[in-house]
Amino acid sequence: MATILTANNASVEGTLKRSSCWQTALKRSVRSGRELCRLLDLSSDVACPTAEADFPVFAPHEFISRMKPGDPRDPLLMQVLASHQELDSSGRLDPVGEHGCERSPGCLQKYPRRVLLITTGACAIHCRYCFRRHYPYQSAPRGEIGWSTWLTNIRNDPSIDEVILSGGDPLSVVDQRLKWLVAELENIPHVQRLRLHTRFPIVIPQRVCPELLDWMSQTRLAVYVVLHANHAQEVDASVLEAFAGLKSAGAMLLNQAVLLRGINDSVDAQLELCLRLANQQVMPYYLHQLDPVQGGMHFEVSDQRAAEIVAGLRQQLPGYAVPQLVRELPGELSKTPL
Ligand SMILES: *Cc1c(COP(=O)(O)O)cnc(C)c1O
Ligand code: SF4
Repeated sequence: MATILTANNASVEGTLKRSSCWQTALKRSVRSGRELCRLLDLSSDVACPTAEADFPVFAPHEFISRMKPGDPRDPLLMQVLASHQELDSSGRLDPVGEHGCERSPGCLQKYPRRVLLITTGACAIHCRYCFRRHYPYQSAPRGEIGWSTWLTNIRNDPSIDEVILSGGDPLSVVDQRLKWLVAELENIPHVQRLRLHTRFPIVIPQRVCPELLDWMSQTRLAVYVVLHANHAQEVDASVLEAFAGLKSAGAMLLNQAVLLRGINDSVDAQLELCLRLANQQVMPYYLHQLDPVQGGMHFEVSDQRAAEIVAGLRQQLPGYAVPQLVRELPGELSKTPL
């Protein structure tokens, strides 16, 4: 289960005054479906406190402000509001077979050349369809001392040329720590590329702060930031500013989306998302078929429908703006194109 970022970074907080606004945004986040309903003028009947017990609701006001009040089918609301449908027990706890591919706790390798580090269990938001909603984050090491095992591991394996910071959301980690980790990775000659898988620039755009841009613009590593927006309505003016900041630091921006029933499962919704991203030089990268996670199965879209949607996109978009439709199958050596 993802954990909510609290004041666990209190020891370094004094040095972080300037970047504290994103941490304040996290602390002020809405933590119950009933509260969400109240803010959006909805009947609390649509909330399901039972479903929140094992995966709490967590949504910052910056994201909620882009929802349409009074609309229980709002595509942003549906990503964060725990629903009665989550009580369905089909699906798996480890939908993509991650438990078998740990090189060391919190360091996953499924594919050649790339390792993925679970830097934190904390996220900027809790997405109800999350494939890691049951991930045992407690077992991943935290902070510089724990992370040293990863670094030794990577240093001793010259085949690794890309390190992916994931979680949770790696941008839940304060910049002082990220800067340390990136500096350590830079000292390993065979590491060439650094990737961040993050929803922060979409959800709390002020996370793209001067401290972040500072270390990002100075690293020798080629930086790829893989964003996660599912719907054009998520991408407002504040998000465009965050994109511009990341680009100014030299990062290549990509987006991955998850195909979600009732949220973005139409050609129009995907077209609008891809265009909005492409207009900002953010490349649509992957469109993921849902990982069959327990509690998220009601978001599933059939492979046939998914293929129709992507075929529809291909007719209207330049080739570079069409995301690859993929599914993650346990044991495969790459995501599987459909
Ligand atoms: C998805 C994933 C990656 C990245 O795969 P790409 O196809 O390179 O984007 C790397 N490691 C793990 C464990 C993954 O699940
Ligand atoms: S999908 Fe990403 S941002 Fe959302 S809860 Fe899962 S890990 Fe966090």
